[in-house]
Amino acid sequence: MVATPIGNLADVTYRAVDVMRKADVIAAEDTRVTGRLLAALDIEEKPLIACHDHNEEVVAREIVDRLRGGQQVVLVSDAGTPLISDPGYRVVNAVIEAQLGVIPVPGPSAAMAALSVSGMSTDSFLFCGFLPSKKTARRTRLSELSSGVTTLVLYEAPHRVSETLRDIAEVVGATARVVICREMTKRYEQIWRGDASDAARVIETGVVPDRGEFVLLVSSPEVTNDLSASDQRLLEVLLSELSPSSAARVTSEVTGIDRRILYELAMVIKEAKR
Ligand code: SAM
Repeated sequence: MVATPIGNLADVTYRAVDVMRKADVIAAEDTRVTGRLLAALDIEEKPLIACHDHNEEVVAREIVDRLRGGQQVVLVSDAGTPLISDPGYRVVNAVIEAQLGVIPVPGPSAAMAALSVSGMSTDSFLFCGFLPSKKTARRTRLSELSSGVTTLVLYEAPHRVSETLRDIAEVVGATARVVICREMTKRYEQIWRGDASDAARVIETGVVPDRGEFVLLVSSPEVTNDLSASDQRLLEVLLSELSPSSAARVTSEVTGIDRRILYELAMVIKEAKR
């Protein structure tokens, strides 16, 4: 399993080049993309087999047969590390099941590149891949994902990036911290850091154009238990008009305090008033 550059050819590893040079065959997500990579790396013409989401099951069997016959098979995706929101899962599992060796040749991955410059906590992070494209499903998924205190790493298509950033501000919270990593390792690389409340506007005004490739990182608003008397009063007033979850959400937006903590407190206040 060989990782390839995500935009800058110089990021290919010596070992990746060596392994691809020695391979008997290369299984590629798109043979034209990999053909161009091999040409740029001066690797002589190799037999290439297409291995993508629609034929992976069949190709997995072919790869197992080739490995059994003593061939060295390399699997690459168009860019980055195979299997990370890319094909390869079925091939790896077929090879494991056949009790043959799968060897990683690590290298670039957009998720890791983004995390390394995010400035966000990396002790614990959640790689979420692409969120659902439909709004309701995306918001439900965001709500599930943001329930833990951890950094979220998302891939997003350029035409959906501003919509997703709006959802992040509404579902995770306006004070959630966001990092937008655009076109990493390429000529027009941009890294923007700020609050979720500003993030969509940055795209919509063209400060960060909605073109190219994007990784979004999200860090939940700071978790704090420090509730001042006026914060608590605000929650109580809102609770007399709204449901506990709405009162917690509005108080969270005003104070920046984690809405889960406010929700728990809202439930306690409601119980006490019964
Ligand atoms: N397997 C790849 C990896 O290891 O990063 C990811 C493949 S996934 C199909 C492609 C997505 O990765 C893009 O839509 C974008 O979200 C992200 N991505 C890939 N290259 C990128 C780059 N140079 N800058 C920002 N995001 C990138």
